[in-house]
Amino acid sequence: MIKYTGKGVYGAVAIGKVSVFKRQTASVEKVRITDPEAEKARVTAAKEKATEQLQAIYEKALAEVGEEEAAIFEVHMMMLEDEDYNDAINDMIDSELVNAEFAVASARDTFAAQFSAMDDSYFQARAADIKDISDRLLNCLADNGASSELADDKMVVCSDDLAPSETVSLDKSKVLAFATAYGSSNSHTAILARNMNIPAVIGLGKEFLEGIADGQQICVDGYMGEVFVNPDEDTVARLTKKRDEDLEKKSRLKELIGKDNVTIDGTKINVFCNIGGPKDIPLVNENDGGGIGLFRSEFLYLENSDFPSEEQQFEAYKNVLESMKGKKVIIRTLDIGADKKVDYFNLDDEENPAMGIRAIRICLTRPEIFKTQLRALFRASVYGDLGIMFPMITSESEISEIMGFCDIIKAELDTQGIPYADNIELGIMIETPAAAVISDKLAPMVDFFSVGTNDLTQYTLACDRQNPKIERFVDTHHEAVLRLIEMAAKAAHDNGKWIGICGELGADTSLTERFLRMGIDELSVSPPSVLKVRDKVRSIDLSK
Ligand code: PEP
Ligand code: MG
Repeated sequence: MIKYTGKGVYGAVAIGKVSVFKRQTASVEKVRITDPEAEKARVTAAKEKATEQLQAIYEKALAEVGEEEAAIFEVHMMMLEDEDYNDAINDMIDSELVNAEFAVASARDTFAAQFSAMDDSYFQARAADIKDISDRLLNCLADNGASSELADDKMVVCSDDLAPSETVSLDKSKVLAFATAYGSSNSHTAILARNMNIPAVIGLGKEFLEGIADGQQICVDGYMGEVFVNPDEDTVARLTKKRDEDLEKKSRLKELIGKDNVTIDGTKINVFCNIGGPKDIPLVNENDGGGIGLFRSEFLYLENSDFPSEEQQFEAYKNVLESMKGKKVIIRTLDIGADKKVDYFNLDDEENPAMGIRAIRICLTRPEIFKTQLRALFRASVYGDLGIMFPMITSESEISEIMGFCDIIKAELDTQGIPYADNIELGIMIETPAAAVISDKLAPMVDFFSVGTNDLTQYTLACDRQNPKIERFVDTHHEAVLRLIEMAAKAAHDNGKWIGICGELGADTSLTERFLRMGIDELSVSPPSVLKVRDKVRSIDLSK
């Protein structure tokens, strides 16, 4: 038996046989050509085919893991159309009279190297995307079929790393688990595995790759981040027990559908969902989410090649409100900037974009963008129970300015005779230490708080949330972050307002009791986490 240790990215246990992932990479030879136009036409045809494949993968991802995670494949389609990338390929064919395959492979290597050399970890991660789309293009040029074949039985897919498109393209019914030599826990592949509910351990090291072969017996413990190849009897027995208990627990969770989020002593809280758009609503309903605690509206902007119009936004918001049939829906105004970049916003390059023109700072600097979104939101409010929340708040004056804009929009709609609800709740995100520290001053100005623990942790611990190299310095349970949340909870309640948590920490059940003791009224989590959180809430006795 050989044990490998990596990082578990989805907690579950699998016992089965190894299937080493076989990647069909088209081999690339440099060939001198005489007809550059014909060669460029081959690239265009391959691009069309690649786009069709990506569209199909996008739809599969949408159905299996939701809109937010599927968005990466839309990004891939956009990258295929990128002018610089296409110019590099065509120019090389024209100037060096080389075959399409060689030009694509060269563009891939040049762009991937440029991205990898960048300081910003967001751009470094784009190198993998460039490789992914270029290899797809090469396979299309070589007319290769599907990129992977799996045996009929369910297998543990073992690989160096898996590109997002490879992860989603695998037939889920044949995958027992993922085990990879490389990869980071924030990679899209890790996120996809989590959303597909497939046990996964990454970062097992290159020895793992060298030591495995098709058909070997393997146990994957996604909780511990451990993998055992050719396990001994005791290990198999121990992990079989762990797996069966885990499966039983997960099926027990399904029995919680329809039950209240109530503690043993009778304290009820809301367990809501975080979504990226209307297409995530089926996942919310499947997991019995009580409402939407965070609709990241920036996905409407990220998916578009130009500013989404008022009408387009209105339709999306109305759609979500109607689908939720009167349940609360909290829509956050756009949080563009930092890691979420959109070309058409033409944002200046910044040394520290996470601390630059981001989120509400864009809205207050460019009111025409903000007003369009507010108009769409107010107009949609008559179709359900809407709350609007504003990200990245640090001061009272920002809130005064925001409320001023809301008044302008209401006056405009009144003049035009356009209806809007009179009970829209207006809240702010507590995701900067400043907002938490002065939450007593902010609470009287708004209807609710929602704590964004992802950013609150980043800004409190001075740890860039995009930088995998500092993961070991990020203590997600840091007392400083917890005290800031507690401070905001007290300020909210002292002023008769409610407070929720919509960052990742909301789903961390080791903190649920502490949050409830602080008086947190709502936890908004990814849809697959709702029942796990409900289960935890129902096990807590606050009277003790
Ligand atoms: C947060 O910061 O915790 C949050 C919910 O917002 P986002 O992750 O979208 O920045
Ligand atoms: Mg945030």
